[in-house]
Amino acid sequence: MSTIAFIGLGNMGGGMAANLVKAGHDVRAFDLSQEALDKAVGAGCAAASSVLNAIKGAEVVVTMLPAGTHVRSVYQGADGIIENAEEGALLIDSSTIDINSARAVIKAAEDKGLAMVDAPVSGGVAAAAAGTLTFMVGGTKSAFAKAQLYLEKMGKNIFHAGDAGNGQVAKVCNNMLLGISMIGTCEAFALAEKLGLDAQTFFDISSTASGQNWSMTSYCPAPGPVPAAPSNRDYAAGFTAAMMLKDLRLAKDAAESAQASTPLGEHAEALYSKMEAAKKDDLDFSGIMKLIQGML
Ligand code: NAD
Repeated sequence: MSTIAFIGLGNMGGGMAANLVKAGHDVRAFDLSQEALDKAVGAGCAAASSVLNAIKGAEVVVTMLPAGTHVRSVYQGADGIIENAEEGALLIDSSTIDINSARAVIKAAEDKGLAMVDAPVSGGVAAAAAGTLTFMVGGTKSAFAKAQLYLEKMGKNIFHAGDAGNGQVAKVCNNMLLGISMIGTCEAFALAEKLGLDAQTFFDISSTASGQNWSMTSYCPAPGPVPAAPSNRDYAAGFTAAMMLKDLRLAKDAAESAQASTPLGEHAEALYSKMEAAKKDDLDFSGIMKLIQGML
């Protein structure tokens, strides 16, 4: 079993670190938040007093941080992970961040002779706790093979998406599509209702016809047809509109830097920005139904 440093024990990292403990690893946790750290200790992690303290003696370092700026600051610089990690340590960043930061940090790690992958996840807090996340991994084949042994303890689907940063590419493209499909699904249900067709009947038809998609069948934004969906709890998150907006902004920036045309992605970003402006971005992302219905 390995000694693993885990940095960032928030909503996602807390559950992921707990699964590494359950798999028998010695997990050293560090977070700026004492509350997050206390929870990790409750799950069997050992508390570290700093990033440097956590990574000392660690064969593997996993990070689960909010955004690219946090990842750059924790990995780079004189007090960063790259400069101070043990020789031969494997570095895994599972945060959802911009592709350029992911590639820059991995290049810096490789320049120091360290193997590193970007391994963002799909699946929310429940999947992190249950160990059923999907990991989209970018990096060399050998780094992927090493990381797989640990990612398997935290997820059920582990994909090698290609070179460094390609995990983030898969993540932003998937979530851009999810944002677009959610809005399209909301529009269809809202229009059906206005035209006199109830949600359950439209669901029964469209979920077996060509309009079928995940936002409809697993996460229906109209209350009723999918009992576990946030629409039945007044859109309590789940995956917040704020997080969807973060991912759509990452997709927009990525599209600009690649000179790719993503008109619907941009439109989705503009609509989720309206939820932010209305201070309703703490709702689940399917709560954009309220915006479409003119209720925000
Ligand atoms: P979170 O805000 O709950 O957790 C992030 C943690 O990082 C916090 O506890 C914070 O204190 C800590 N942190 C920040 N800077 C730090 C530093 N310099 N050193 C140590 N700790 C630091 O966020 P989350 O919901 O766990 O999400 C983490 C990442 O996973 C994000 O990139 C998010 O986009 C992605 N993600 C989240 C979900 C979800 O449903 N929550 C789903 C998929 C992906």
